[in-house]
Amino acid sequence: MPNIDRDEIRKFEEQTAFWWDKTGEFKGLHDINPLRLAYIAERTALAGKRVIDVGCGGGILAEAMAKNGARVTGIDAGDAPLAVAKSHAEASGLKIIYRRTTAEELAQLSPGSFDVATCMELLEHVPDPPSVVRACGHLVKPGGAVFFGTLNRTLRSFLLAIIAAEYILGIVKRGTHTHRRFIKPAEIDRWAANAGLLHQDLTGLYYNPVFKRMGLGASTAVNYLMQFKKPEGNDTLHSASR
Ligand code: SAH
Repeated sequence: MPNIDRDEIRKFEEQTAFWWDKTGEFKGLHDINPLRLAYIAERTALAGKRVIDVGCGGGILAEAMAKNGARVTGIDAGDAPLAVAKSHAEASGLKIIYRRTTAEELAQLSPGSFDVATCMELLEHVPDPPSVVRACGHLVKPGGAVFFGTLNRTLRSFLLAIIAAEYILGIVKRGTHTHRRFIKPAEIDRWAANAGLLHQDLTGLYYNPVFKRMGLGASTAVNYLMQFKKPEGNDTLHSASR
């Protein structure tokens, strides 16, 4: 059984028209995208690197990384977001490979074939997030970087990401998020450690859509970003000898 929730895929397929509408239902993704890109680009070289963007949607992050010189492959479990991503990249003159598959499936077919894996706003939509974390680890080469971005499971995220964003402000389509599926950073840390990945960083992402104020910072109560590293041969030896 693939690690896919069909109802979740349907939600994103229904919003096809909005992927590149910067004031539409994915406005939040467009607003925070420069921060996500800055976080990734500050921590790993992108130019000439092979990057896999897992759950790429319409290609918002994939395109930004390609513009920074990365050789990006975007994968998604939905047909509709991929169709949008393909035509938008073409219209923008960007060379990005888009494929309909899951991280787990691609990790089996071509393990260790990327320098960097990015997986943003996806883990909270899959039935088995630890499996995606593990697959991202398999997708990168030893020494490769793995980035996750998702929503924390806190009272604050319930009030802001669901009640305010979906019900009061209406900037995110109602039903997009399910609070119990949100993930605590310590949970990702545990799954990543089980997958043999090394914790590099945890940074909060603050976003106020009303005043369009946002930034990276210490508060991980709502959105946050994490970086992991797949050990090099000697990193593993090192930790094994300790
Ligand atoms: N990462 C993009 C889009 C996030 S929306 C961004 O942040 O800009 C989540 C996307 O994940 C949707 O396009 C949805 O179709 C896709 N998705 C959901 N479950 C998936 C799975 N198991 N494997 C791959 N993609 C999945």
